[in-house]
Amino acid sequence: MIELVNVSKKYQEIEVLKGINLKVEENDIVGIVGESGSGKSTLLRLIQLMEEPTSGVIVLNNHLATTWNKREICEQQKKMSLLFQNFNLLSNLKVIDNVHLPLKLQGKKELKKAEKLLDFVGLSDKKNMYPAQLSGGQKQRVALARALITDPEVLLLDEATSALDEQTTREMVLLLERVHREFKPTIIFVSHDLNVIKHCCHKVFIMEKGCLVDNFEIQKESFLTDDESYLDKARRVL
Ligand code: ATP
Ligand code: MG
Repeated sequence: MIELVNVSKKYQEIEVLKGINLKVEENDIVGIVGESGSGKSTLLRLIQLMEEPTSGVIVLNNHLATTWNKREICEQQKKMSLLFQNFNLLSNLKVIDNVHLPLKLQGKKELKKAEKLLDFVGLSDKKNMYPAQLSGGQKQRVALARALITDPEVLLLDEATSALDEQTTREMVLLLERVHREFKPTIIFVSHDLNVIKHCCHKVFIMEKGCLVDNFEIQKESFLTDDESYLDKARRVL
């Protein structure tokens, strides 16, 4: 479980998070929405223990994270993966090596798990290509495979679908639903796309000017896999 109790964050004298109280249960999938600059990414950085709150406490799996030493923070960070809007793939590494990288850094040479995850995201045939040879949606699927290779307990998504078009976003959301079903991580999904949040999350938190101003359960509607194709939609709309 992830819990923030009265968490505030100041940069210089500017308070960008103000008295945040938030609780996310294990294996839940929740959304965070809010205007640009409302503090969503800062909130994720605090949850990921990349930065410390100015005041308040963060509780992860019933442990007070704010008292941990560097080694304990590192251990906890290994249990979390972050997915960004801009994919952050290494351009000089092949797809398979990008996915394998977190394990390589732990001294593990075996590529089997990377191959399995590439298969899971449907990109086995691209394993020897370089990121520049992939579409945006394919790059994000590679980044997702890489994020999953460490078996994270928590997946933090910061506008992970914002660089993708409507159809590719839908495919990504369906894939994330499969990830949630099969690997059961807790997922925190920051997005400005209310449609994505509605189709992906059970609960949403609303941020405004550094405050969590509301939260409510949502009636999740799954994207239909057999929904009309992009071409059909184009014919209907245009
Ligand atoms: P967006 O939707 O545009 O990504 P956001 O909700 O993620 O916005 P944050 O990136 O969390 O917003 O930023 C919140 C506020 O904190 C902004 O006013 C930003 O300028 C400020 N801020 C973030 N990081 C820093 C920093 N390292 N130093 C100073 N100010 C910062
Ligand atoms: Mg942001």
